[in-house]
Amino acid sequence: MKKHNFYAGPSILPEFTKQKVAEAAIDFAGTGLSVMEVSHRSKEFVAVMDEAIALVKELLHVPSGYSVLFLQGGASTQFLMAPYNLMNKKAAYLNTGSWSSKAIKEAKLFGEVVEVASSKDANFNYIPKEYSIPEDADYLHYTSNNTIFGTAFLSDPESPIPLVSDMSSDIFSRPVDVAKYNAIYAGAQKNLGPSGATLVIVKDEALGKVDRPIPTILDYRTQINNGSMFNTPSTLSVFGCLQTLIWLKEQGGVETIEKINIKKAGLLYDELDRNKLFEPNIKAVEDRSRMNVTFVMAPGYADKEQAFLEYATSKGMVGIKGHRSVGGFRASLYNAMPVDSINALIQAMQDFEKSI
Ligand SMILES: *Cc1c(COP(=O)(O)O)cnc(C)c1O
Repeated sequence: MKKHNFYAGPSILPEFTKQKVAEAAIDFAGTGLSVMEVSHRSKEFVAVMDEAIALVKELLHVPSGYSVLFLQGGASTQFLMAPYNLMNKKAAYLNTGSWSSKAIKEAKLFGEVVEVASSKDANFNYIPKEYSIPEDADYLHYTSNNTIFGTAFLSDPESPIPLVSDMSSDIFSRPVDVAKYNAIYAGAQKNLGPSGATLVIVKDEALGKVDRPIPTILDYRTQINNGSMFNTPSTLSVFGCLQTLIWLKEQGGVETIEKINIKKAGLLYDELDRNKLFEPNIKAVEDRSRMNVTFVMAPGYADKEQAFLEYATSKGMVGIKGHRSVGGFRASLYNAMPVDSINALIQAMQDFEKSI
C-alpha cells in the first residue's frame, strides 16, 4: 500500500532528492566512491557546497553582504549561537511555542531578554499581534512556523530592529525579505534534506559587535572564513539539501511553491472546517500554518480519536498523531508533500465521517 508521509521531522523529501542521494551513496559525481566516503575538501564535494550556497542565495534572493553556512548541531545549537554572536546586552523575543521558549532560555545566558509577547496563556494557539519592541534591543527573534502547535507568521513581522528567525519548519515555503534579518537559521530535516545540516544565513555587518569572547567553533566568522568547513560538515546531508534546492528551482522557486502550499493547506483546512467530526486547532485563519496542520476531534466525538487514528493508518497515513503537548492530530504538509497524499487523508476523513 502507498504510504502517505505526514511526519513532522525528519519528514517527506522529494522523490528527486531520494533518488539522487541513493545514486550518490554508491557512485558520487563519477568518483566511483560513495558521497559518504570522499573528503569534504575534494573538488567534487566543494562543488556541492558551493552550488548549495549559490542556490540558497538565488532562491531566497539573498542580498550581498550575507553569508550562507551549512553547520551542525541543529536549530537547537543556533538557539545559543545566535545570541552568542548577535546580542550584546539585550534582545527581544516573541514566544509562540516550545521552540521559541527553548530559544529564550538559551538567550538568557547572554544578556537581557525582553519577551515582548507570548501566547503561552492559550497553549500557543495564536500568534500575538499587539506588542511593542524595544528599539535598543539588538534584534527581535521569532519562530516563523510553530511546528508543534500549527501556527505561523505567514509574512515577515514588522519591526523597527533587525529580525532573527528560526525558520526550521517553513524555510523555502514562502518568500522572505532577507534584508530585514541579521540571521535566519533552520535545521535541514523539515523542508530541506536529511537531518545533520543546519542552514544559517547571517548578515556579515552584524558580526563582531559583541563584547564577549566567542569560542572558535561557535563564532560565525570562523565558519564564514572557512566556507562551513572549519570542522567536517555533514556531507551527506548537505548533498541531500542541494538536491532539494535543485528540485525547488525546477518547481519554479519559492514564489511558486508558496502558491502551491496555499492551495495544499487550503484543501485540508476546508475539510476541517466542513467535517463534523474534526475541528482545526488554530481558529484564527491568518495564524494557520501551511506546513503543520493541527486538528482535534470536534466536541462530542472525542471518543472517536483512537478509531480514526487506526482507520487512517489502515489507509496508509503515517505520522498524523499530534504532538503530546497538543493532542489530536498533526498533518505536516511540507514542500515535498504531493497533493495526492492530502487528498487521501481528506478521503479517509470523509469515509470515517460517513461511517459514524
Ligand atoms: C524541529 C525544530 C527545531 C529543532 O531542530 P533541531 O535541528 O532538532 O535542533 C527547532 N525549531 C523548530 C521550529 C523546529 O521545527
